[in-house]
Amino acid sequence: MTGSGVLIPRERNPLLLVLSGPSGSGKDSLIECLGRRGLDIFRVVTVTTRPPRPGEIPGRDYVFVSTEEFERLRAGGQLLEYAQVYGHWYGTPKEPVRQALARGQDVLLRVDVQGARAVRQLCPGAVLIFLTPPTEEELVRRLKARRTESPAEVARRLQKVREELAALPMFDYVIINYPDRLEEAAAQFEAIVTAEHLRVNPRRVCLD
Ligand code: 5GP
Repeated sequence: MTGSGVLIPRERNPLLLVLSGPSGSGKDSLIECLGRRGLDIFRVVTVTTRPPRPGEIPGRDYVFVSTEEFERLRAGGQLLEYAQVYGHWYGTPKEPVRQALARGQDVLLRVDVQGARAVRQLCPGAVLIFLTPPTEEELVRRLKARRTESPAEVARRLQKVREELAALPMFDYVIINYPDRLEEAAAQFEAIVTAEHLRVNPRRVCLD
């Protein structure tokens, strides 16, 4: 061969990454850790009717809205997916996701397992990642350490974990979040992102 042309032209295909898993699995800690490590990804702030917990910042952790406002967004088709989780509504705004993908930026959604199922149906090319602690004991420890849920609420969340684990086959990847090994989980997440960008046949990400 004599030419100096590029052998394999690569276009950058943005990824729609969906991080899901039981409440208390460490999704928020992992996202924070990825931010510290400098992963360039667009994180969509989701909308909820749940009241803020101490320390949560509106617009950073969630956009906190009334039930009426949530209903207005849902009825107006402005939510990519939505779900009722433990009595409160949660939803992912569609427009910021569409804009980020159009800019060629990878997008990260943090949703519960129902939300992951909805995104999979809407966009089969999404990359679904399930995050879980290694054991049930560890999950209970984390839910209790958070001190934001009542014992009844902790019991309710645990009950739901069993259903959530049953949804595992729908996911593409699973990351086990071991205690004090968050960096390892973050490195695994980054490895998934790297590998997905190296696919010969990129996944097609299209939202209606
Ligand atoms: P928390 O109230 O503990 O912040 O969240 C409860 C659950 O709702 C978590 O599993 C969280 O991932 C999920 N969640 C947060 N935002 C969204 C969203 O926009 N859509 C869906 N489907 N679930 C969400």
